Amino acid sequence: MARRSLVVVANRLPVDETVRPDGTVEWSRSPGGLVSALHPVLIDRRGTWIGWSGGIDSAPDVPDADGIRMRTVPLSEADYEHYYEGYANSTLWPLYHDAVETPAFHRRWWEAYQRVNLRFAQATAEYAERESMVWVQDYHLQLVPAMLREIRPDLRIGFFMHIPFPPAELFMQLPRRAELLRGILGADLVGFQTRFGAENFIRLAGRLLNLTTTGAQLAVDGRIVRAQAFPISIDVDEMESLGRDRDVIARAKKLREDLGDPDKVILGVDRLDYTKGIEHRLKAYRELLTAGRIKVQDTVMVQVAVPSRERVEHYKILKDKVEREVGRINGEFGRVGVPAVHYLNQSFDRAEVAALYLAADVMAVTPLRDGMNLVAKEYIAARVDNGGALLLSEFTGAAAELPESYLINPHDLDGLKDTLVRALEASPPENRARMRAMRRHVRAHDVRAWATAYLRALEHPGR
Ligand code: UDP
Repeated sequence: MARRSLVVVANRLPVDETVRPDGTVEWSRSPGGLVSALHPVLIDRRGTWIGWSGGIDSAPDVPDADGIRMRTVPLSEADYEHYYEGYANSTLWPLYHDAVETPAFHRRWWEAYQRVNLRFAQATAEYAERESMVWVQDYHLQLVPAMLREIRPDLRIGFFMHIPFPPAELFMQLPRRAELLRGILGADLVGFQTRFGAENFIRLAGRLLNLTTTGAQLAVDGRIVRAQAFPISIDVDEMESLGRDRDVIARAKKLREDLGDPDKVILGVDRLDYTKGIEHRLKAYRELLTAGRIKVQDTVMVQVAVPSRERVEHYKILKDKVEREVGRINGEFGRVGVPAVHYLNQSFDRAEVAALYLAADVMAVTPLRDGMNLVAKEYIAARVDNGGALLLSEFTGAAAELPESYLINPHDLDGLKDTLVRALEASPPENRARMRAMRRHVRAHDVRAWATAYLRALEHPGR
């Protein structure tokens, strides 16, 4: 039999629109691991990507990229507000991240979520070739697998959850919990970042829907659905070559000079999201300064906080809190021309992010909950010199793969402080040994290996 063709379905298309001065529109491939991972597979398999283009009320014809077909699903202002900002990012996102902010439940958000998921399923049903593989991505589209199976039972359907899948105690809060589970169970293979996510899902499906489960398998309407972990990764080659790039190395040197040539640089790189533990990290730094355990002239902090979901209330509140804390630290410990925390509420390109990684002695990754955390893996890959140290929250997916990092519980402020100091003061040979071990792991498990392993399991269930 000919190889099955592949359709990827995600909230966003992997392209960004730029309008040239003369008014013409250009589409360029967006940066990001998922796109680079799937790009070769999609070319190889006559692939199609189905997603939203990013514009309101428009369904532009996005040109094919390298033979990959792009198909647009439109969103209205009401869809954006109720499906995207509402149900996806104010109900599911906080609930699935341990409810670190309180999830909100509104029936009109749920209605919009159903409506938009159906639109994605219908678009996919229309474009997918007979018996092709369809790979649905993430929490925005959990109803799509079942909706799609209903219209197109010939398809082989996969689903991957990029964010954590919560334990039953939290999931049970969802008003339409059974429907959401049945949506995902329309897939043949359900992938999670960690085995805890997969176990939570299997246990819930068994309990809530009375399904028979055997190991990683669930019996659903006479079919077998498998649920297991496929930890996502990064484009290691890209990060390694940036880490070796002369311009990037020169830029890193310049960054350290601009910081006043301190002994140590602590770096944070996150979307400005309440799951990332940015406040905990800043507080730990402030308390270390207050206690005199570190000094500003020796140890500075750089915090990149990429603007995110800015119309959502919890995000506005978080921005205020983080900026107040940065102001407090700089007011107390900064000097003219020498702030303690260099706070950047902007987004940087890959080369600048890599230069920041090279300039950092300690990369502080302290989320309260994170599906994976790619920044941690990128930092390791970029450090081709085996330099630097990774401070990593136990509550990230990455922690399960990187036991050689400096693991912390971000809620334990004293533990966080002690471990940060330990990472800053460890001997270079110790830190190099840790980095070498982590680099070995990340190199052997890059994002291409992830995509290949998942798609093989989807295509050949028995093997
Ligand atoms: N990133 C970027 N520019 C920035 C800051 C971050 O391109 O200024 C990228 C970063 O390199 C990483 C991604 O954004 O690839 C963040 O992924 P992660 O899994 O750490 O967190 P998420 O934002 O997906 O929750």
